Amino acid sequence: MSTTVNALLREDLRDFGGYKSARSEALSGTIWLNANESAWANPSDPGAALRRYPAPQPEALRARLAQLYGVAPAQLLIGRGSDEGIDLLVRAFCAPGRGRIVIAPPVFGMYAVCARLHGAGVVEMPLVDAPDGLRADLDAMGDAALESGASLLFLCTPGNPSGELLARDAIAALAARLRGRCLVVVDEAYLEYADAPSASTLLADHDNLAVLRTLSKAHALAAARVGCVLGAPALIEALRRCQAPYPVPQPVVEAALAALAPEALALTRSRMEAVREARARLADGLRRLPQVRRVYPSAGNFLLVRFADAGAAFAALLAAGVVVRDMRALPQLGDALRISVGTAEECRRVLAALDRLPVEAAA
Ligand SMILES: *Cc1c(COP(=O)(O)O)cnc(C)c1O
Repeated sequence: MSTTVNALLREDLRDFGGYKSARSEALSGTIWLNANESAWANPSDPGAALRRYPAPQPEALRARLAQLYGVAPAQLLIGRGSDEGIDLLVRAFCAPGRGRIVIAPPVFGMYAVCARLHGAGVVEMPLVDAPDGLRADLDAMGDAALESGASLLFLCTPGNPSGELLARDAIAALAARLRGRCLVVVDEAYLEYADAPSASTLLADHDNLAVLRTLSKAHALAAARVGCVLGAPALIEALRRCQAPYPVPQPVVEAALAALAPEALALTRSRMEAVREARARLADGLRRLPQVRRVYPSAGNFLLVRFADAGAAFAALLAAGVVVRDMRALPQLGDALRISVGTAEECRRVLAALDRLPVEAAA
């Protein structure tokens, strides 16, 4: 087992084998009577695709995802969205009631939610509102990890909601600094929109690094719930022992494989360029509106926007049938909304609705 994974894994889980399901034993035969499955298919399932429990980590999908993300199958765990990856990481690496994670708010809420549910502490090192955008201070986050003894540090790149793209060199330097002390988790839920290399290219040199990828955003499969943790084989194995016995439903395997077939993947990739263009056009349009105070640069499929009166902007959009994300409850974002980049027509609707905002709201 890699030294870092071994050193950071919860002490009480180091010899934990997890649940031994009927499918986790390496047995072979032609008559399967070891899992109390029905001997008949459901009438609604003529192909009998659903009669038996699925493989814990379906091989074909694991191989396909590994190829997609440029890692070996043993470096990849399939879960129910990257949300499950986050939860598994927190449960495996934070001692309940004692462990800690480091995050840079405002950021995706699930890191703190999983920590809270697990009784782990959350050490916050706020994003810095700089002239070039909302920036994570990786030096300060590293300091916080070392001072607090946190076992996990979450980076989000492109950042949700900041839109910030972190430099790969900076991630590598942070991982090197925290080697053996803290696992650096890089959430790349929006990386496809950024046209930038993945931090997974750093895995060979950094055994305290994990990367989260998902089919929910760029691959348009949010309802299928497929996400991956990429990391050292020892890390993947440790997380697998903490995971539910059958986390990947068979219909989901089929949907994901279909979405990753060459033609579908080519279309998905061509859409990334369209999103980047639409994002630039929407940002331009927003910057021209008098009630818009600031549009942050974004490497994702969304824009973070500050308004003179964000409440009025939210209400005007809602009145036009457009639902955006109200960010006002988040730290530093009391005047901000987050707008996903939709179709060209949907972006036009956003701009039209905001253009009709009463002038006094622009004061
Ligand atoms: C949307 C999002 C996710 C959720 O991913 P799932 O794979 O759907 O669970 C993870 N991280 C960030 C930053 C997100 O914005």
